Amino acid sequence: MKKIESKTVHSGERDRKRQNRSITIPIEQTAAYYFKNTRQIKDFYQGKIEGIKYGRYGCPTQHAVEEKIAKLENTDRALLFSSGMNAITTTILSLVGKNQHILYTDDCYRNTKKFFNEILPKFSIEASQIPINDISNIKKYIKTNTVLFFSEIPTNPFLRIIDLKFIINFTKKKKIITAIDSTFATPINLRPAEYGADIILHSATKYLGGHHDLFAGVVAGKLKFIDKIQPYRDILGGIIDPHTSYLLLRSLQTLAIRMEVHNKNGLAIAEYLERHPKVERVWYPGLKSHPNFILAKKQMNGFGGVITFSLKTSEKNTSKFIDSLKIPYIATNFGGPQSLIEQHAILTFYKERDEANKRNIKGNLLRYSAGFENINDVTTDFKQAFKKI
Ligand code: PLP
Repeated sequence: MKKIESKTVHSGERDRKRQNRSITIPIEQTAAYYFKNTRQIKDFYQGKIEGIKYGRYGCPTQHAVEEKIAKLENTDRALLFSSGMNAITTTILSLVGKNQHILYTDDCYRNTKKFFNEILPKFSIEASQIPINDISNIKKYIKTNTVLFFSEIPTNPFLRIIDLKFIINFTKKKKIITAIDSTFATPINLRPAEYGADIILHSATKYLGGHHDLFAGVVAGKLKFIDKIQPYRDILGGIIDPHTSYLLLRSLQTLAIRMEVHNKNGLAIAEYLERHPKVERVWYPGLKSHPNFILAKKQMNGFGGVITFSLKTSEKNTSKFIDSLKIPYIATNFGGPQSLIEQHAILTFYKERDEANKRNIKGNLLRYSAGFENINDVTTDFKQAFKKI
């Protein structure tokens, strides 16, 4: 099966053994797996029989998901984790060592940045950022000990896009590992491995899970890296459980059709907001006004359901605006059927307003995650909320 829609449905599942010819992959809700006798244990360790010993090392449903994601991302192998943060932290700790340096793009998920700046120094690992606006000068920012380049595509919250062809051409020459957090893109909108990226990361809590009801993380990539990450996962213990694996497997079967709707609704709402006189600015890679529009069109198959925008009003009035909306929940996630909205400086950065200010995340900035509601219902809801401010 070559096309991505077919892969979302069948990869990792079609040829997998099951006991009773069920169409779906069963959930084996167990923590440990028994051996019939000591001979079987020895055969297991000697690789004569397949099997699993203990659930922290994996479970059959999880393996089906991992195979599906590896096929979707066009990579050798994928690993699942208990959260996106767990995927990121385990990956970095397994690939970067003492006195080595990570370069990362500045518009980036808050906790990834905190991990780089507050936790990695404890292990004598250094991280510094490159402003996305200066990405063409990457040469200036690398150090002799730089071993890994990290970027989200699109970035959080300003949905910036970096040119993978350019970056990977550079990192390859310098023998620097390229790790892309592709949470905002999904393999439907972008497949970084096809540009030569070494590691692809996801918070599967977002689009891959797609229903605001599970936590999971993904690392996909070249075998030589994944083989280094897996033993760290076994020890650090950020494993996904069998039931969540099943939920994720089921979600991935609809990823292509869900992303089609997120892409369509995201663009329609971004266009609506850009036309509105009370909107100051919209950041959405599918709009001509976005600083990376041309690159996004070339590199992406779609632009997703997240729209960042600012209002021509105060922080207080911006709160009034979102409090008046009837359709989106006020919540900090994205990628599910229900639309969500958040005033980023308050919901995400309430205790870190200085950091928000430094990042140009002001009180009038909103992040909207377009779900599957009817677009006319959504714009009618926006209209009544705009009238209140
Ligand atoms: N990466 C990105 C781009 C995110 O937006 C997030 C969470 O918001 C994460 C990683 C962390 O994922 P999780 O919340 O599943 O740990």
